[in-house]
Amino acid sequence: MRMPQRSGRDYTRQVSAPEAQSERPPALLSFDVEDWGQLMRRSLGDRSFTPSGADFERQLGAVLDLLDELGARATFFLLGATAERYPSAVAELAGRGHEVASHGYAHDRVSAQSEREFREDVERSVEVIEELTGQRPAGYRAPLFSITRATPWAYEVLADLGFLYDSSQYDSPRISGRLAGVPAAPYRLRLASGRELWELPVAVCRIGGRTLPVGGGSYWRLLPGRVLVGALRRSLRSTTHPVLYFHPYECDPRLLRAALPPSPGAKGRLVALAWHLWFNPGRKQVVARIRRVAQEFRLVSYEEAHGEIAERYGSRTRALSEDGVLV
Ligand SMILES: [Zn+2]
Repeated sequence: MRMPQRSGRDYTRQVSAPEAQSERPPALLSFDVEDWGQLMRRSLGDRSFTPSGADFERQLGAVLDLLDELGARATFFLLGATAERYPSAVAELAGRGHEVASHGYAHDRVSAQSEREFREDVERSVEVIEELTGQRPAGYRAPLFSITRATPWAYEVLADLGFLYDSSQYDSPRISGRLAGVPAAPYRLRLASGRELWELPVAVCRIGGRTLPVGGGSYWRLLPGRVLVGALRRSLRSTTHPVLYFHPYECDPRLLRAALPPSPGAKGRLVALAWHLWFNPGRKQVVARIRRVAQEFRLVSYEEAHGEIAERYGSRTRALSEDGVLV
């Protein structure tokens, strides 16, 4: 077992949990926790907008109710700005036994930041989370999966900040400049400094030479549950631990409606309309689809599964070449 241990947290202790005996294969369940209304306003260049909070709290409540119903725990990648805005929600997550990880602070693409800006952004999120939960987060996920060929330094920064794992790799054609050769299963990423990070890539399904990114996103709003379950079953050919990702705003049935700034202008109205049209269709179906998956998969947090993963994939390593290929 090569997993590094952190004080106050033992990643191997839960291997013998009763669920580990279940015949259902595991699926790692994660949520990127951000405020949809706030991100929409940021896309208009408004970085000071503070949402009322009612929508976010209802959306996160829907997720927590769902997880209680399913008897599942999940990993929540918290945006630092969101954690700061909703401290009691963070306490609630941690108090209910879910894993709290980092999604950075401000939701800027990693590939749009300098190394120094990235370090400051992630460090700030770690400080907020540590302040609220008493623990440094072990895991990180980049906003919009934006660790790319242009940002090989990001992994060294994450290692500097004490992270044990990253879950920012998603072999989706929508991610421009993404790394090449992303494996479907977890592995240890060896860094040039000699350190390493676990990487837990988001689930893909390979069909006839094509890679379908089925771990989350619009597929879960648009494809029937049986198709998604079939794709996840197929993903088990190349990993024992497919990673799923969702957002709280996908789990609440109410229509997403962002508050526009006082003078949005034509461009502002257009951007808001685009967000409405992109995020609302099919969103009411996501919870039913997660329930359907839970009938066939054991939904677990990264923390719960880390012992199994370390045991199974501990000898599997990759390094990142200078041209952004995992070899
Ligand atoms: Zn995000």
